[in-house]
Amino acid sequence: MIEITKLDKSRLSLDQSTFEAFDLAVRGEVLTSEHGGYDEARRVFNGMINKRPALIARCTGVADVIQCVNFARENSLLTAVRGGGHGAPGNAVCDGGLMIDLSLMNGIRVDPQARVAWVEGGAALGDVDHETQAFGLAVPAGVVSTTGVGGLTTGGGYGWLRGKHGMTIDNLLAVEMVTPDGQFRRASETENTDLFWAIRGGGGNFGVVTTFEFRLHEVGPMLMVCNPMYAAEHAREVMRGWRAFMENAPDEFTTEFFFWTIPEFPHFPEETHGQDVVIPCGVYNGPVEEGEKFVQPLRELAPMLVDGSAPMRFVDIQSMFDIYLPYGDVICYWKALYMDRLDDDMIDTFVEHFLDRPGKQCPLVLHDLRGASGRVPADSTAFPGRHW
Ligand SMILES: Cc1cc2nc3c(=O)[nH]c(=O)nc-3n(C[C@H](O)[C@H](O)[C@H](O)COP(=O)(O)OP(=O)(O)OC[C@H]3O[C@@H](n4cnc5c(N)ncnc54)[C@H](O)[C@@H]3O)c2cc1C
Repeated sequence: MIEITKLDKSRLSLDQSTFEAFDLAVRGEVLTSEHGGYDEARRVFNGMINKRPALIARCTGVADVIQCVNFARENSLLTAVRGGGHGAPGNAVCDGGLMIDLSLMNGIRVDPQARVAWVEGGAALGDVDHETQAFGLAVPAGVVSTTGVGGLTTGGGYGWLRGKHGMTIDNLLAVEMVTPDGQFRRASETENTDLFWAIRGGGGNFGVVTTFEFRLHEVGPMLMVCNPMYAAEHAREVMRGWRAFMENAPDEFTTEFFFWTIPEFPHFPEETHGQDVVIPCGVYNGPVEEGEKFVQPLRELAPMLVDGSAPMRFVDIQSMFDIYLPYGDVICYWKALYMDRLDDDMIDTFVEHFLDRPGKQCPLVLHDLRGASGRVPADSTAFPGRHW
């Protein structure tokens, strides 16, 4: 007998034959806490989350997802869907219910002529970059390679290519998904259009996406990275300098402004370990020589502590932060908001709060949402943040 939690929080006892029938219907493994691999499968990025599902279905394809969705609906089960497991609140896993684990569904197919990629719902960004960069192509997505395509895309998705090519959802051509009624549907600009609107920014609330179809762009393979680190005592002047610089920056240049503490890694000089810094970090999505020349003023905003600026392969740029964000070991609580301007008072507030933060491990990051990502009409997708 397996005790499983229902949506109304009551408990249902699954007898052995019901469990075996479900186990048989799903081609991937169905794990209980008795099985090896259970703890690894329920582990998510945020080390603060420690939930124990009654069942973890490790789906291998669309048929498994249909079986899971039907089983969950017919038994009114508390259900969670895991893509890459990066969601900070830990919604990829649930206590006592059914976890639909898509992580084995990470296949990718690229048509380099048509510049289209088909990506399964459990793939990570690194999987996509690996396959697409083989053809010098890329999907505009996030900046950490272990992040899942599933949660990132349904949430909007932005990374280093957003200035020139927009958000991830702006490059989504279609999805295939299993909706809560167990039906397999395709949604695009011409099919199930309301569903297509909703899953572009509305999160994982409308069904399980089994395949994302993306438009690809020519990128790299080498791009210029701007990564100058300035001591926090220069934070105000650096932030003002970055703000002024970005006013006339072309779509090719996308930045993330970091407030950070240099960790004790051997690639940083020992005397800088533990120092608070600000970093106008950016990637120039164009010819390297052009980018190198363009970013130079951002490397001269104040005396520099460390300069990580260099031409890099796009696939390496996409994983350059991974080392600081080990899966399952980061304890995180995030807050975010959209700002319609960055005036001097706000800069002062950022700096004051950074210097007064609860722990050295708390970074602050500002993402610029300029260029192509800001030119898409506000009501064309469910993503709420690009216009205010
Ligand atoms: C270290 C780190 C770096 C990040 N960097 C970026 C970034 O650069 N840009 C950016 O835009 N975001 C970024 N994010 C945020 C990230 O996009 C979201 O946390 C996203 O929800 C993670 O998706 P996931 O599939 O990995 O997570 P999960 O925790 O598996 O899923 C998150 C939510 O999406 C749902 N979901 C996942 N897959 C599917 C699917 N196939 N079908 C339907 N629903 C699904 C889940 O049920 C859950 O509700 C980052 C997050 C972390 C932790």
